[in-house]
Amino acid sequence: MDAINPFEMAQRQLDTAAAKLGLDEGTHMFLRNPQHEVKVNIPVKMDDGTTKVFQGFRIQHSTARGPAKGGLRWHPDETVDTVRALATWMTWKTSVVDIPLGGGKGGVICDPKTLSDSEKERLARAYIRAVSRDIGTLNDVPAPDVNTTPQIMAWMMDEFEAIKEGSYPGIITGKPLALGGSKGRTDATARGGLFTVREAAKNMNLDLKGKSMVIQGFGNVGRYCAILAEEIIGTKVIAVSDEYGAILKEDGLDIDELVKFYERTGSVKDFPGTKAISNAELLELECYILVPAAIEGVITDKNVNNLKAKMVLELANGPTTPEADDVLYKKGVFLIPDFLANAGGVTVSYFEQVQNTYNYYWELDEVHRRLDDKMTAAFQAVYEMAQAEKVDMRQAAYLVAVKRVAEAVKLRGWVS
Ligand code: GLU
Repeated sequence: MDAINPFEMAQRQLDTAAAKLGLDEGTHMFLRNPQHEVKVNIPVKMDDGTTKVFQGFRIQHSTARGPAKGGLRWHPDETVDTVRALATWMTWKTSVVDIPLGGGKGGVICDPKTLSDSEKERLARAYIRAVSRDIGTLNDVPAPDVNTTPQIMAWMMDEFEAIKEGSYPGIITGKPLALGGSKGRTDATARGGLFTVREAAKNMNLDLKGKSMVIQGFGNVGRYCAILAEEIIGTKVIAVSDEYGAILKEDGLDIDELVKFYERTGSVKDFPGTKAISNAELLELECYILVPAAIEGVITDKNVNNLKAKMVLELANGPTTPEADDVLYKKGVFLIPDFLANAGGVTVSYFEQVQNTYNYYWELDEVHRRLDDKMTAAFQAVYEMAQAEKVDMRQAAYLVAVKRVAEAVKLRGWVS
């Protein structure tokens, strides 16, 4: 993904929406940059007795509609600009699903694969000590993202509560069920995304039964997309990938067996009965729905012309560059853009905060029903905007989301 700066990409996407909305200069300039950024140096004692210093970030892009909200990524390629971009996209994400939250993101530059569990725990706790003055249930609430887990959220909550000397379950979401997590949070991003595909099919009179699906990424999001796809939209998954490689089986993968294999070996690579392909080949496979569910910047001007999918469900954040976006639209590919497609995660995080506040917990079917309502309404608003303004779905999602944030900024009197 060299040469693509995700934050510049996020700013360019906003610029286009601002022009189309006729946004005033003050609001536009305000929304182009995060409201608050923290960079921290975190010393962590390693198992071998040495100390390693990690760099971390927490960035609040907007609190106009409510407390900043968004995940924490632990990734070797994290930079301040990836975090800025992801924080910005969180603002549009919470807005498009119309939940009363803003946007934020955090990250630590590290490779979790090289860390033991006790090193991870010390890193999680040290990160919270470093940012404890900048986060809070009423101003900024972190959550899991790439390479962070419910266990990491549990350590972080515990550290925060030790510092603040009280019970603050709402300080972080994506917690384990035993510590105030919400039922349905783990598969919420994938489930919510599949609900939007179901709605797309309804609106466009498509029958998705038996149609092929290709998924890039087999982390929490990609894996649950594979598990739930057939049940929710009737598609069959023919290829998946992870960071070690990709596999293809044209008549459909046995997902139950694949998940067992993945849990045993830590990868989808070498799953028996499949053909090994490269990650690049996976994106260019003949298929009906392509689901990028890993990281940003994977569909670019370099490969977009070779893509054969009819539909793209962006479960990753920022997988498509603006140049590639234009090509997809001209090719007639129906794309469900990231901050709409993957908003299910933060939506159930919001439900988790609500349950923490009430200290009363919902049953799974209630979470699913409310998630469905939110995702269906969001898809519908964006789809109608796309029809009315004759723009692609990403532009339409921006128009819906930016308009709501701009209204909040104005009502607060932050810009005149
Ligand atoms: N990390 C997820 C996202 O990018 C969820 C954020 C949250 O639950 O706050 O949407």
